[in-house]
Formats: sequence, structure tokens, C-alpha cells
Amino acid sequence: MNIHEYQAKEVFAGYGIPIVAGKVATTPDEAAKIASEAGGSVVVKAQVHAGGRGKAGGVKLAQNPDEAREKAGAILALTIKGYPVRKVLVVPAAEIAKEYYLGVTMDRGAKRPVIIASAAGGVDIEEVARTTPEKIHRYHLTRRGAFRSYEARAVTMKIEPRKEIALKMARVLERLVEVFWASDASLVEINPLITTPDDKVIALDAKMVIDDNALYRQPRLSAYREDESEDAAAAREMGLSFVPLEGNVGCVVNGAGLAMATMDLIKHYGGEPANFLDIGGSSNPDKVTTAMRIILDDPQVKAVLFNIFGGITRCDDVAQGILAALKNLDVRVPVVVRLTGTNEEIARGMLAQAEGVEPAATMDEVVKTALARANGARRI
Ligand code: GDP
Ligand code: MN
Repeated sequence: MNIHEYQAKEVFAGYGIPIVAGKVATTPDEAAKIASEAGGSVVVKAQVHAGGRGKAGGVKLAQNPDEAREKAGAILALTIKGYPVRKVLVVPAAEIAKEYYLGVTMDRGAKRPVIIASAAGGVDIEEVARTTPEKIHRYHLTRRGAFRSYEARAVTMKIEPRKEIALKMARVLERLVEVFWASDASLVEINPLITTPDDKVIALDAKMVIDDNALYRQPRLSAYREDESEDAAAAREMGLSFVPLEGNVGCVVNGAGLAMATMDLIKHYGGEPANFLDIGGSSNPDKVTTAMRIILDDPQVKAVLFNIFGGITRCDDVAQGILAALKNLDVRVPVVVRLTGTNEEIARGMLAQAEGVEPAATMDEVVKTALARANGARRI
């Protein structure tokens, strides 16, 4: 789960990382009011779950409240990388001497978290990583509580030669590492970390991504969730992994790997999946019904495909879910079902008489048939 900059800054501040406190506005007038309270120049910043806001025109300096109103109006009208801007953060402008990068993320290859530090922070960090990777320093972490001050200093001395400032940065880094562990984050990032002309060290931006699987034990961070559609909320509550897509073939699959393979096969035969949906291991019929409801909410969907490999998942439970969906939902599109594995014969028997349900024996067949139905071919 992504959280907004202003939320991540609240978390950072709680751990003693220096930030400039600001306020959130949802209208240009509110932004002007915050700016007039702040006095002096402010920065107006789009709060969206996307990076690169600066380059997209989502971060603007305003000298006075009138300018803040105008800039906030422009930013609130933007859509950045598909995210409409609904809130802006208004913060007193900081004077920048130099921009650095500090982050902690998961290094999947090394199976450890890794600190990433660079003296070349700012909006072009991706470009720096690509063209001059020697400017990016990495340092692996082992376990929570093991990272020592001298290690933090060794990292920050690589990006800042002045000892006093490197020490201040080391304290920020130690705190950032603790935020990473304590929050079950997959990424915590300060870009830019700045020095000011009077040698203060400040986190000017803040980004955090929290591991979804840990949200149950992160109630404070979970409360930051927002902008979730009703379908997405229903899927989450049911324990379904659901990602809406552009195509017309709805997919209900168990297991992320099988779901991906099914989507690949749909593409292979020239079709487009309407969604990724993994109903997971256990086979609660309610999950299947919820999955159907979410998929049928999308008017683009012209056929629904089930590809279930029954292991722990019992095919008869899935069949029961399909029957309940047919009974309780307005299912107007063909449903093509491949069920194999545990209790498949029972499941097939249950579905034999079901109106609008077509069986398929193999993965290839279920995909080809669903595509044909989605494209309007009549039943054979
Ligand atoms: P991002 O583009 O989404 O990463 O947004 P940032 O918060 O990192 O802002 C982008 C850039 O805007 C920064 O790298 C700074 O150069 C600039 N910027 C942001 N806040 C301030 C500020 O308070 N003062 C000044 N002078 N520049 C700022
Ligand atoms: Mn940034």
C-alpha cells in the first residue's frame, strides 16, 4: 500500500526525522489560507500515489497567498500518471543548498533490505541510477536493531565529505532504518534529503510503501488507506487479490501463478483479460460469489472464465459458489468453467444442469471457448 507524502512525513516526524510541517488543502482557497498563515513563500505539492510529481507540474513554488491559490488551482486540475489530484500539501518553502537521496528497500536478490544513498538526489535519481550507477551507494541490513551508528556514518560519509553534516545525515539514516522495520515497509525514501545554506539537514519529500500482508498489524498505517473503489474494498475484505484491467474476459483463478498463466494464454489467443483475480487457496463459496459480483460490475465483461486447479481448493466448493452466483446475481454473460483436481467429478455433476455454464476440460479449451463467447460466438 502506498501512502501520501504528508502521511509519510507524519510517520517520519514521529521518529525524529526533520521535516518541514505543512497542511493539506482540497481547494485553492484553503491553500491560500494555509499560505497566509505560514507567511512567506510556500511550496504547493500534489498528493497522489505516484512519483515524479515535480516533472509532471505537481510541485510549485508560490511567493504569496494569491499565488498559492492560483498554483493550487492548477495542480488540483491535474491528473498525474492516471491519478487525479484531490489534495495538495502546502509547506513553507525551504532553501536548498544541495539535494541527496536516502532510501531503504527490499533487495529481493540478496533477500535483505538495502540502504540506497546518493549525493545526486532530486528529480533525476532514476536517470542517475541508469547512467552513472557509481553515484549510488548500497549497504545491506541484516535484522532489526542490528544497524549501528558507525555503519550509518560510514554510509553517509560516502555522500557528504563534511563531517558535521554527514553526522546529521547518519542520524536521519538510523531513524529511517527504524521506520522501515517498524512499519513493515517495502520502501521508505527521502528524495530529496536536503542541506540548507545554514547546514541543516531536512527531509523535503517522503515516500513509504507498506507491505499489504502486514497491514493487519499496522493499524495506524492502515488508517491512511484511501481512494479505494467499492469493488477493491470488497475484494480485500474477502481475501481476494483483484486487479482490474481493460479487456472483456473476466477471470476467476486460484493461485497467482495460474492466474498469470491464464492471462498469458488469453493474450496468446488474441484476447484481453478484464482482470487479474486470485481467489487464493481455501475455497469458501462466498469468495467465488464475491469474485463473480466484482467481475460482473464491469460492463466491459462479455464472458467469465474459471480456471481452478483443486488442491486445497475443493472444486465442489467453487461449483457451489458459481451456483449461488447464478441464483443471486444477474449473470447475463456466458460462464466457461474448467475445474480439475479435488472433487472435480462432484463439481462437474453440480454444474451439469446449470443454465449458462459451459464446461471445458483443459486450460487451452477454457481460454479458447471463453474468447469465442466474449466475441459473440453462439454456443455449440
Ligand atoms: P517528486 O517530484 O514527486 O519527487 O516531488 P519532490 O517533493 O521531491 O519535489 C520535486 C522537487 O521540487 C525537489 O527535488 C526540489 O528540487 C523541488 N522542491 C520541493 N520542495 C521545495 C522547497 O521547499 N524549496 C525549493 N527550493 N525547492 C523545492
Ligand atoms: Mn521526491
